[in-house]
Amino acid sequence: MPEQKNIPFNRPAVTGHEESYLLEVLRRRKFSGGGEFSRRCGSWLRQRFEVPAALVTTSGTHALEMAALLCRLEPGDEVILPSFGFSSTATAFVRCGARLVFVDVRASTMNIDPEAVAAAIGPRTRVIVALHYAGVPCDMDALNQLARSHDLVVVEDAAQAIFSKYGERLCGTLGDYGCFSFHETKNLQCGEGGALLVSSADQVGRAEVIWEKGTDRARFFRGEIDKYTWRDIGSSYVASELTAAFLLAQLERGRELTEARLRIWDAYRQRLDPLVDGGRLEVARVPEGSTHNGHIFWVKVKDLAERTAFLSYLADQGVHAVFHYLPLHSSPAGVRFGRFHGEDRVTTRDSERLVRLPLFDGLEEVECVADAIEGFYRNVE
Ligand SMILES: *Cc1c(COP(=O)(O)O)cnc(C)c1O
Repeated sequence: MPEQKNIPFNRPAVTGHEESYLLEVLRRRKFSGGGEFSRRCGSWLRQRFEVPAALVTTSGTHALEMAALLCRLEPGDEVILPSFGFSSTATAFVRCGARLVFVDVRASTMNIDPEAVAAAIGPRTRVIVALHYAGVPCDMDALNQLARSHDLVVVEDAAQAIFSKYGERLCGTLGDYGCFSFHETKNLQCGEGGALLVSSADQVGRAEVIWEKGTDRARFFRGEIDKYTWRDIGSSYVASELTAAFLLAQLERGRELTEARLRIWDAYRQRLDPLVDGGRLEVARVPEGSTHNGHIFWVKVKDLAERTAFLSYLADQGVHAVFHYLPLHSSPAGVRFGRFHGEDRVTTRDSERLVRLPLFDGLEEVECVADAIEGFYRNVE
């Protein structure tokens, strides 16, 4: 009997420099935010993304909450977002009293459909959320055009899209606010962490106040004022120095981590090509002019029944594939806080067909996963 494989879905990346940076923090005895590593992460992100401010946060969820607060929403204001998405994205806006207007996605990317957005815009609409699913950029020209003509704010949920590009421009810099996640399931990780990119210099001051528990402490630390005070609402969104030290090691190896994932993504794409051509599987189509970051390799099978059989067959072969998301609009909170606008042509149908294959830095078993998938289809009518 050949040895049973055990291929995990994810294994968080470690670059090797985390340890020495963390030891440096221990030696310096400065643990809260605002230290040397926090500063270096902020300036690394600011320079790489060419934005006036990059604030390292305790999570991607918190970066989204900060963006929502920066939108200055009032009760009854509406936020348009894809139903195929993550709870944090929705919750961030509900906390500000907004009503959620869920719309459909395009099947080729599972990203928000600008035509559905256009149809959903009403007198109370304030924000469009562009969630770059699987690190593949949304159709930002169309979304930004809608935002300009209706005076709306664009928040990018770029949690999965660090280093992805739309044309020559990086995701996270394409709207008003860009939100990254460095959760351990993401391409670059520090356990729990995130960052908020602010595109307009006008908003930097308020963003820093929200970040620092509603105070102007960030300015005080820079020596711009001689005492700090309570200015506005905010919360404890600043990441600790330990988090920043770990994160800096990952940022500095960001290119290599991304390239490693893209090689695995491309290997899956090539190996599964016959099944795609044969009409068994669908895979993401990366729009012309865009590049992605290899965050997720998804396939779509025929339907829910086939997916259940597919996942259990792979599990028997020691391959841990997973699915997500359950549509937000039909979840208990989604029903309470929002509504779906337009026709649900893709979201529900395709969320029942989608499977994520194992993908992480150091994965060597692409062939085994592909063999298992081929094995499954040899037994299917
Ligand atoms: C991971 C993720 C988040 C939340 O990030 P955390 O750092 O886990 O809080 C939000 N949106 C999307 C699309 C994500 O993938």
